Amino acid sequence: MPTNLANKEVRVRFAPSPTGDLHVGNIRTALFDWAYARHTGGKFIFRIEDTDRDRVTDEYIQAAIDTLKWLGLTWDEGPEVGGPNGPYLQSQRLDIYAEWAAKFLAQGDAYYCYCSSDELEARREAQRAANVAPGYDGKCREISADDLARYQTEGRKPVLRMRMPDGSTTFTDAIRGDVTFDHNFVPDFVLVRGDGSPLYTLAVAVDDVLMKVTHVLRGEDLLSSTPRQIRVYQAMGVKIEDYPTFAHLPFVMGQDNAKLSKRNGEVSIAWYRDRGFLPEAICNYLALLGWSPGDDRENVTMQELTELFTVERVHSSPARFDMKKLEAINGDKIRLLSLEDLLARVTPFLIKDGVITGTADELALVAKTLPLIQERIATLADVTSMVKFLFVSNFEVESESAPKIADEQSQIVLKRALEVLTATSAWDHSSLEQALRAALIDEMALKPRIAFSALRIAITGSHISPPLFESMELLGRDASLARLVMAIK
Ligand code: GLU
Repeated sequence: MPTNLANKEVRVRFAPSPTGDLHVGNIRTALFDWAYARHTGGKFIFRIEDTDRDRVTDEYIQAAIDTLKWLGLTWDEGPEVGGPNGPYLQSQRLDIYAEWAAKFLAQGDAYYCYCSSDELEARREAQRAANVAPGYDGKCREISADDLARYQTEGRKPVLRMRMPDGSTTFTDAIRGDVTFDHNFVPDFVLVRGDGSPLYTLAVAVDDVLMKVTHVLRGEDLLSSTPRQIRVYQAMGVKIEDYPTFAHLPFVMGQDNAKLSKRNGEVSIAWYRDRGFLPEAICNYLALLGWSPGDDRENVTMQELTELFTVERVHSSPARFDMKKLEAINGDKIRLLSLEDLLARVTPFLIKDGVITGTADELALVAKTLPLIQERIATLADVTSMVKFLFVSNFEVESESAPKIADEQSQIVLKRALEVLTATSAWDHSSLEQALRAALIDEMALKPRIAFSALRIAITGSHISPPLFESMELLGRDASLARLVMAIK
């Protein structure tokens, strides 16, 4: 990645504004930030941008912290771990922003603006009518003594605005190359609101400087705020060679090519966690969404990501989020788990779904089932429907499957199976298979699909289950026979 800072330690930050649960786009940014820091042996800084306290809540902040931890994106400086450049919550740094704002005012870089929102709106309207670039027109750059006296008598609370000089700002984005913003389209911008609270542009720029951030990898939606941030660096007296290097990551689009947004619950990482996606699958999938290690692999471990990640290999065009692909990768990762690990991960889902309470006996039975279903599930939550037949006290065939065993043919199969099984004393899956095949397939000449699907529904209540004979073995003789009796009208 091109950098002005060849000899300095790389310092990358992830700086979300937690106004909701972190979403897929945020997490991909965090992952790339983390990967770049780890790849370069630098530092990964986690900063919470919570100056907008009307929209950011403590719950969302905690959720953001928990999400990063869950994904394994450990940070070197930030909430909980601290660090030499803290605090890392912007709401705890307000005095720092106030100090810099006062300095900018004293230097003449910033000025008080008394324009009311009605006045601003009226002038914007006029700009639109006259077909000129909309934005603040600089009215309060010079205020006459009379006007100032009048504003003050009216009790107006001024905002603090940054003066944008004429000209343009050019910077080299590590993904998009040279980017230039003509200042005709970057009007004087607000640094501090009338109530004294700082705006994002002030806080983010001050913090990136004070936290010695060397690389800003973030979403493309923030590209247009870069010239304003650079203006703040200038006012802070930062030398051009000390500006961070910017890399704006292309959007993650939805299937329909619309932008993914956090208003849509389905993009929040919590949504995926609650549905049994593994953190390593999410990281694997998101890592390859918009970045590639130079080949067409679909699996990448965190270790490989750390070794291989470079910004040069981030694609410059938008990436499309594909749920099917994520599910496939999740299934792959589930298959890589040891049975012990899989058991530990599915247990909370089974408890939450009311399938088990978590006793040692229940867990032992789940543990026996897992090898049978590890190949068949795409998410941890899928385990519930696969194993619940082993635990229900009031067993019932699920309503959509009930008609499938009510027909004459199925009833004949079930009756014959009951006779055979009543006479079978060995209750292991191979004996069961042998006895049932002999009776149903060999003697009655039924197709296995017909014979065994009726049995499967009668025993497990569903047409989706672990393998049939193993299911019967796990369920046990008494319960299996009782279910057959129940299924026979
Ligand atoms: N806090 C900003 C946001 O969540 C991002 C700040 C940045 O990365 O520059 O949208």
